[in-house]
Amino acid sequence: MLKKRRFLLIVLSIFFVIGLGGCSFIATPVEYTSEQFLMDTIVNIKAYGDNEEQVKKAVLSAFAEMKRIERLTDRFAQEGTGEVEFSDVYRINQAAGEQPVKVNEDVYEMIEMAKTYYELTEGAFDITIGPVMDLWGFGSEEKYIPSDAELQGKMLSVNSDKVILNESEKTVFLQEDGMKIDLGAIAKGYATEKAAAVLLKTGIEHAIINAGGNIDVIGKKYDGQAWRIGIQDPRNSKNLVGILSLTDEAAVTSGDYQRYFEEDGIRYHHIISPKTGKPSRDTMSITVITKNSAKADVLSTALFVMGPEKGMELVEQLEGVEACFVGTDNKIVTSSGMSNKVEIQPSKEYTYDKNG
Ligand code: AMP
Ligand code: MG
Repeated sequence: MLKKRRFLLIVLSIFFVIGLGGCSFIATPVEYTSEQFLMDTIVNIKAYGDNEEQVKKAVLSAFAEMKRIERLTDRFAQEGTGEVEFSDVYRINQAAGEQPVKVNEDVYEMIEMAKTYYELTEGAFDITIGPVMDLWGFGSEEKYIPSDAELQGKMLSVNSDKVILNESEKTVFLQEDGMKIDLGAIAKGYATEKAAAVLLKTGIEHAIINAGGNIDVIGKKYDGQAWRIGIQDPRNSKNLVGILSLTDEAAVTSGDYQRYFEEDGIRYHHIISPKTGKPSRDTMSITVITKNSAKADVLSTALFVMGPEKGMELVEQLEGVEACFVGTDNKIVTSSGMSNKVEIQPSKEYTYDKNG
């Protein structure tokens, strides 16, 4: 009897050891991080899983998905390289004033979304800004400060009411010759969202995609903590104005420091007011947090143009959208639901109004 009991004890303890060993094996995460230059920026993806092969494959598939969106939306596609056939945006612009162009479903969805936000923001978000971007030289090496007369000429082509969509045919038509769409304010966020969907589909539960300031996180970090992301000080890249805590959501920043040139002490940056054709002046940076990364991208640009005052009024009306503005008046303002998502850092440069 005693022998039997001892035997049982030994068997149980062996099971216990194997069981524990097994658990600790399962609990050890495999981390895979990779970086690629895509959509004019460095894209970094970090993902965790149980198996190295699986995580690596998932991350590479996510990059491939972003590459696919990049090729569809590249409006400077090169003639004779095969890229032109692939870029729907190039073909839409070429056919302006002539005929509707059948496009890929993702491109259709982006343009449809752009039109929705054009209306919601009373024209602050306008993808037909293309001819004005080109006049300023953004997208090329040669920056140029246009005269008011030159701007007025190009502004005649800026009007999203003249982007005609046909849902059943999946076509896009720019009604006037000279019109050009530019998806620079939405494509990165949309691509990030699609890449996250690829990771989720392959069973990844903890990941972060950082596409040059367009952040999208899946779940929490592997240790169960929220992902912590810094909001850069727009005038000092070594400082942070705040630290975000993110779980299963996207955070996108638009800033006047991301793409700009200076002349005679004046900063000329890439976020243009569709009312004036000139760089919008009230915002230094705006960070938007919401579930969908494409929506966060659209809103970051739109709210930048609207400025802290009008922009925050809109944010407070939108469900599930939070924002942090850094104004050119050196004031930081956060939306009402932001308090548990951001820690604003003490600073001599900026004042902070929590209830903006
Ligand atoms: P983001 O960095 O997301 O704020 O996007 C800036 C890019 O969006 C610019 O480089 C342009 O390609 C484009 N853009 C600039 N101004 C506007 C605007 N008012 N509405 C829509 N897109 C814009
Ligand atoms: Mg944007």
